[in-house]
Amino acid sequence: MKEMPPPAPQSATTAPKRRFRPRRVALAVFVFGQLLLWCAYAFGSGVLHPPVDGVPLARIPPSFGAPRDGGRSRHQGIDILAPRGTPVRSAAWGIVVSIEKQPRGGKVVFVLGHGALLFFYAHLNDYAPGLHVGQIVSKGTLLGYVGDSGNAKGVTHLHFETRPAAILFAPIDPLRLMEPRRARPAERILTALATVGEPW
Ligand SMILES: [Zn+2]
Repeated sequence: MKEMPPPAPQSATTAPKRRFRPRRVALAVFVFGQLLLWCAYAFGSGVLHPPVDGVPLARIPPSFGAPRDGGRSRHQGIDILAPRGTPVRSAAWGIVVSIEKQPRGGKVVFVLGHGALLFFYAHLNDYAPGLHVGQIVSKGTLLGYVGDSGNAKGVTHLHFETRPAAILFAPIDPLRLMEPRRARPAERILTALATVGEPW
């Protein structure tokens, strides 16, 4: 039996030198982030539901990105006007990760869930009885009630934000997630790249 010739050694001398390429790394991180974002969209398609009882999607005005503080910042979510005490329900399943009182957001709830999204509900009048950190909520679980706590004084509404982990929790327009098929890809990306500024 003929002996097989040993495989030719991979030439180490001709291989290109490995160099750190920051632009390639940045591109790879961006593409990977976008892929995760698309996954979030895929899971979110048509599943998120409006978080305030009695206010259907069609009656929620777009207010994401609107100028705030005299144009120095942009609105990071959407405002859903409703009478005080209207039930606020989880837009998707998830886990309650924080229940806080903030100077501007007032009584707020953070839920991490569905599509690696962080959901933020602010200006609550009160929390749902027994609501606690670590609680698993499903779509429609009562989180609290519409109010004007924080800097919303006199204007009872829910401030609602969606922040995908895929883009380091930068906010995107919740309306886009509620009806993703209406948004064109370029719009989605632009919306997703909205800068992190003031969280409300
Ligand atoms: Zn707001």
